[in-house]
Amino acid sequence: MFDKILIANRGEIALRIHRACREMGIKTVAVHSTADSEAMHVRLADESVCIGPPSARDSYLSKAAIISAATITNADAIHPGYGFLSENADFAEMVQDHGFTFIGPSPRHIRLMGDKITAKQAALEAGLPCVPGSAGAVTSEEEGLKVAAAFGYPVLFKATAGGGGRGMKVATGPHDLGEAFRTARTEAQAAFGNSEVYMEKYLQNPRHIEVQVLGDNYGGAVYLGERDCSLQRKHQKVLEEARSPALNDEARARIGEIARRAVERLGYSNAGTMEFLYEEGEFYFIEMNTRLQVEHPVTEMITGIDVVREQIRIAAGAPLGYDQSAIRFHGHAIECRVNAEDPVTFAPSPGRVTYFHQPGGMGVRVDSGLYQGVMVPPHYDSMVAKLIVHGATRNECLMRLRRALDEFVIEGIQTTLPLHRRIVRAPEFVDGAYDIRWLENFVDQ
Ligand code: ADP
Repeated sequence: MFDKILIANRGEIALRIHRACREMGIKTVAVHSTADSEAMHVRLADESVCIGPPSARDSYLSKAAIISAATITNADAIHPGYGFLSENADFAEMVQDHGFTFIGPSPRHIRLMGDKITAKQAALEAGLPCVPGSAGAVTSEEEGLKVAAAFGYPVLFKATAGGGGRGMKVATGPHDLGEAFRTARTEAQAAFGNSEVYMEKYLQNPRHIEVQVLGDNYGGAVYLGERDCSLQRKHQKVLEEARSPALNDEARARIGEIARRAVERLGYSNAGTMEFLYEEGEFYFIEMNTRLQVEHPVTEMITGIDVVREQIRIAAGAPLGYDQSAIRFHGHAIECRVNAEDPVTFAPSPGRVTYFHQPGGMGVRVDSGLYQGVMVPPHYDSMVAKLIVHGATRNECLMRLRRALDEFVIEGIQTTLPLHRRIVRAPEFVDGAYDIRWLENFVDQ
């Protein structure tokens, strides 16, 4: 087992990884920008190294600074968390070339899944059902018109290098296809430095359902059930639940087993997530994330499996040590992402936290780096806390979530807590009858 792990991230996820390490008896190294010197993960880590100025490009995205920090602290392995360098195959390779272990899948798998076109091809070969779409990149309006004619409107242009819901544009018919094509390319170039786009049939009212998988270095593979992430705003997840209220046991086992077999066929090692859209009883693969995800705690709550611990064990060369028959699902879990944003306009709201009181009690978990007096810097993602609640049934979970949200107090900055308090009382949410468009309309009301 590793003696020391460097955590190449910040905020709640850096703290989350630190906690798993501590419980495994592993020492931690925090890296941080000058804007994060007071951060909780920096305070708690055994050692910390300042790796640069506030701008992420010069700190959390600086491969050289992070490798240097690992070298001077004599770390054995690097955990990238999510975002930043977590899905950067060059970084994973560089980590290995410098003699450290990258806590994640192989650079080959990161590269394969990081390009959405090669990812879909690999997914098809691994037996995953995919959204109908172009066979590869679409390079002209004429080509787009031909592809759209083949499977019908509406169609969606998506960035090959996409992520975070950016670079996506819908065309409703031949009249607006040219504009959608050009806008998607421009956005993709601006966001990812790569203008390549491809096309998919635009599903009208799907749910977003994803399957958490784990694979080890010896062909072992399991799925840890699904998460329903259909509550989205601008293609970004706001609240997630496990299990999905939309699936019955048959559909759940079917997609889980398809995902598990794909892990075997791909020879994939470590934690990963296969994302699907689900409409009228059919699943359509959209992408695979080759990292830990923000919403992994809901899976932990219903399985009792610490996903970060499993990532570390697998990276250290341990076999999974259990098979699918050992995995049991208990009750229901919901996670609310709390962002430092105006709950109505969604404008970022950085600043100093003047008061912080987090909810507690049975079945309540808060993953957050916040504390009273900490400064939320303006330079990074606005998510500052995750409230995760577990209950024996979905209804118990919902009642508990309402009371936990009412107990949660964050002052000094604005947060999206009021939005969550509204969502959990909305009849459609209570019924579990929502799709990926529902929240967008709800916030406009
Ligand atoms: P990203 O990597 O940018 O997050 P994804 O491919 O994971 O992109 O898609 C993000 C979200 O965009 C999905 O959860 C869904 O809401 C929407 N989306 C993606 N593809 C389609 C599609 N073919 N039809 C309808 N909605 C889609």
